[in-house]
Amino acid sequence: MSDSGANGFYITTAIDYPNSRPHIGTAFEKIGADVQARFRRMEGYDVHFQMGNDENTIKVSQRAEELGVAPKPYVDDMARQFKEVWQALEVSFDDFIQTSEERHKVGCQAFIQAVYDAGDIYKKAYTGLYCNGCEAFKTEKELVDGRCPNHPNQTLREVEEENYFFRLSAFGDRLLAHYQAHPEFIQPESRRNEIVNLVESGLQDVSITRKGFTWGIPVPFDTEQTIYVWFDALLNYITAVGYGTDEARFQKVWPADVHVIGKDITRFHCALWPAMLMSAGVPLPRQVFAHGFVYNKGAKVSKSAGTAIDPMDVFRRHGADAFRYYFMRECPFGGDGNFSEERFAEVYNADLADNLGNLYSRVLAMCVKYFDGELVGSSSVTPTDWLAGLDLNALVADLRDLVSRFEYNLALQRIWLEVLSAANKYIEVSSPFKLIKTDREACKAVLVNLAEAIRVVAILTKPFLPKTAETFFTAFNFGATASWDRVRFEDVCRRPDGPDLKVTAPLSGGKPLPLFPKIDVKNLEENG
Ligand SMILES: [Zn+2]
Repeated sequence: MSDSGANGFYITTAIDYPNSRPHIGTAFEKIGADVQARFRRMEGYDVHFQMGNDENTIKVSQRAEELGVAPKPYVDDMARQFKEVWQALEVSFDDFIQTSEERHKVGCQAFIQAVYDAGDIYKKAYTGLYCNGCEAFKTEKELVDGRCPNHPNQTLREVEEENYFFRLSAFGDRLLAHYQAHPEFIQPESRRNEIVNLVESGLQDVSITRKGFTWGIPVPFDTEQTIYVWFDALLNYITAVGYGTDEARFQKVWPADVHVIGKDITRFHCALWPAMLMSAGVPLPRQVFAHGFVYNKGAKVSKSAGTAIDPMDVFRRHGADAFRYYFMRECPFGGDGNFSEERFAEVYNADLADNLGNLYSRVLAMCVKYFDGELVGSSSVTPTDWLAGLDLNALVADLRDLVSRFEYNLALQRIWLEVLSAANKYIEVSSPFKLIKTDREACKAVLVNLAEAIRVVAILTKPFLPKTAETFFTAFNFGATASWDRVRFEDVCRRPDGPDLKVTAPLSGGKPLPLFPKIDVKNLEENG
């Protein structure tokens, strides 16, 4: 990582409640953000990828109490478990904040004091309908059939309290002006229209403190109150990078380039959060990207609906890359997607086992069988034939554009349709398995072309399939001349000069180890 802030890229995910383990819905978000972080690193940015857990909530302290432990050891153990899951999914976060940490507490208190000093916080008695699921008061117009649309199975409670309020109602015009001046602020477009309508219809002031709780951050100007969950949680994005504790670092990293969040919390991030920042005189994040939900055979994945799937169960069997591929290819990140074991097996067998896995194992096996894995003289061969009319420069430009806009499924579709099909077709057309009998040198040239195709696929799939891509890239010792860590999308079009190609991939009986062993679809029924 360079030390220059000029080319920085600060990306965050939502922080999660640690009252239950991660599920596929939260994994979808982390993987989507990770693809962007990895892609930006490949584009040369100094990326800071921030994740964390949202610990200062009543639900968390209740859960700890049920288990008979104090809140702090409980949240620390959950943070360890969350990080384990994210690491197993190859999520390359740079920092993981727990909101029970001191750096968060100090930053939070400095921030709420700044908003109080700006005159945007006042105290009043309040009676309202409270949703335990959202940990938020609900206004009448948000309700559907008298219930919270996000938690239709829960009954709302009427709660009366004397609390501090944030004067959100005063920020409507400034928020609308910001959305208009920065159309990229809320993405995708459908979410933007939703928020513009919400703000145009008038914002209400929001309660930002609670009375009588010991777990949570005390309000500096009234220590009987603690800072209420949303006001506290949103601040993780700035306290994690030094707000209130390390001004120099904060100036260098903030503002965030993108907050990646779920569509159900868009209004907190696009209305409340920018208004809080405006009040405290802190610059706004550049973009909020709201991803869709993942459904399990059509039902929303959530713990209360009983459809939660522990991501560990899927990726333990088939690997993190297969798991990542399925969600990024099958579910448009800005829209909704579906998970079922049947569909997973279909996509996995067709795209990973057959298409990608076959190209790799066929080419490597031929190099080993015909040339003992050493393509002597290959450095003087210029590989171009395999492209068959494909304009790689134009494709790479399109892919960079798609990935930077979170259109991952379209990017993967094009890599599979255009690059992998070109390479597989080239094997059929040039038939190295026949050529070896008549023209050894011509056969070698074909295999050099195919090795080049594998190098190209490795670079293009790097943000999505980090482990597989590295295996591909190092299979022929390309790594001897080009550093995998620093490889960029633009390197696709520049074959590195170097020594002759040589198979360095691990082999078993002269064949590469199978990367994606086929799933036996007949056996699925007993699990499904
Ligand atoms: Zn709710």
